[in-house]
Amino acid sequence: MAKIISLINQKGGVGKTTTAINIATYLADAGKLVLLVDLDPQGNASSGLGIDIRNLDKGLYHSLIGGEHPRNIIIKSKSSGHDLMPASQDLAGAGIELVHFDNREFKLYDVLRQIRTDYDYIIIDSPPSLGLLTINGLVASDEVLIPVQTEYYALEGLSQLLQTIDLVKKHLQPNLSIMGAVLTMYDRRNRLARQVVREMRNHFPGHVFDSIIPRSVRLAEAPSFGKSILSFDSLSKGKRSYKNLAREILEKDNKQKKSFTV
Ligand code: ATP
Ligand code: MG
Repeated sequence: MAKIISLINQKGGVGKTTTAINIATYLADAGKLVLLVDLDPQGNASSGLGIDIRNLDKGLYHSLIGGEHPRNIIIKSKSSGHDLMPASQDLAGAGIELVHFDNREFKLYDVLRQIRTDYDYIIIDSPPSLGLLTINGLVASDEVLIPVQTEYYALEGLSQLLQTIDLVKKHLQPNLSIMGAVLTMYDRRNRLARQVVREMRNHFPGHVFDSIIPRSVRLAEAPSFGKSILSFDSLSKGKRSYKNLAREILEKDNKQKKSFTV
């Protein structure tokens, strides 16, 4: 049974997609079977992996709304080492169409349930909003990973995000838990950035990953080449920090599994 992890932050441009692609890649590199789900109508996770969603016949929309079996829309890994459930152009409309469905918050859950045993990890890249698509992502997930950009307004909006997660837990998915926050685009020369790291660790003790993702031009460039990030400058500092993050995620899971079996 796959562990399902949603990357959430309603703030735009904080590194959700970059983090989703990188951890999917490094978990796959560690030998895990991984599916990356592009739940964002912008389709950045799909295009970052070289898929042009404008030329796709079918995407996530067709499973969410049209009832298409998810295996028919999944694109099997080529260079990235993991599979992709691509967004599709009409996904933007799905957020509105879903409103009219019964169990509208459970649509993605129902889709992923059909393929959950095919993978070890399913990573969901969410849009920058707390709308119905993101709620579908949360309801379908076991854990939430929150990318936080190390900048002045970093903590703003986090309480609203945590409140939403709480509401989902209370009313829709009682087993949802917060895996942690990962600090992104860190510039160690910037005093303010160092202060944000301290503040995050004070506010959320035990919930901030040790791995901090540095601001790195190489990380920003990789998607525009649409090729495997493993083959793209895998020795850069940015890449190594994501490799460490994937390792931390695996360690957390191993600990969790052990505590279940004891
Ligand atoms: P959105 O909310 O629009 O979905 P996002 O949270 O998914 O955005 P990304 O798309 O991952 O954020 O990143 C925003 C921009 O910052 C992109 O241009 C990306 O290439 C760049 N970027 C991401 N991480 C880093 C980094 N560590 N260093 C430098 N640039 C980065
Ligand atoms: Mg994104």
